[in-house]
Amino acid sequence: MSLPTLKRILLKLSGEVLMGEQQYGIDTDYVARLAQEVKDARDSGLQICLVIGGGNIFRGMAGAAKGMDRAQADYMGMLATIMNALAMQNALEQIGVETRVQSAIQMDEVCEPVIRRRAERHLEKGRVVIFAAGVGSPYFTTDSGAALRAAEMKCDALFKGTSVDGVYNADPKKDPAAKRYDTVDYATVLANNLQVMDASAVALCRDNSIPIVVFSIRERGNLARVLAGGGTQTVVQK
Ligand code: UDP
Repeated sequence: MSLPTLKRILLKLSGEVLMGEQQYGIDTDYVARLAQEVKDARDSGLQICLVIGGGNIFRGMAGAAKGMDRAQADYMGMLATIMNALAMQNALEQIGVETRVQSAIQMDEVCEPVIRRRAERHLEKGRVVIFAAGVGSPYFTTDSGAALRAAEMKCDALFKGTSVDGVYNADPKKDPAAKRYDTVDYATVLANNLQVMDASAVALCRDNSIPIVVFSIRERGNLARVLAGGGTQTVVQK
């Protein structure tokens, strides 16, 4: 794996990993375990921007499939990401990690708005900055939000912690012969529509030369392993 030296990363966690073994919602014990892994990474000297999805609570596409107006459903999805961000902030602060949530949908009573310069200062002070509400617009996903924040915060890489251990050439659940890539380029991901992140997120990373590391956050200790260049993962880069 040929990643640049890591000083600042963006860690994207899918909402579904916050469910733990539940079918829905937030498993606070599991969030505490994730928070500890984030703390360990921060304690190793990394500056950490965090983006958390909302799929454990609500996805706009699912609402739209049941007849809801897509934009309305997407706003509900964005609100779900703010709930997840607050749950993670709580878990981090319980173990002594100063944290700020910045939301793309203004919600002054509960968190800060997204202000890049302020986020810079937080990171310099060792705080974890959780960016909530994706890009703040419907028809996007938190993957796009993660790519956008990784670009504007000049992160060295985007780590996508999810339920699968990398990018496969076919769906491993349907095709037992599916192979995981160790590395794959952005063009192959886009041309073959590989399920890494949505296309707009991958394109934004490509245009800004941000490597994407896809790994399973479900395995305990895997974040540290992957940050150290070990473990199982796929790196998407040029
Ligand atoms: N969403 C949106 N705009 C954004 C980010 C998120 O409309 O910029 C909505 C969208 O409905 C999405 C939901 O929020 O389905 C939850 O985010 P996502 O599906 O990305 O969560 P994840 O799959 O990572 O858990």
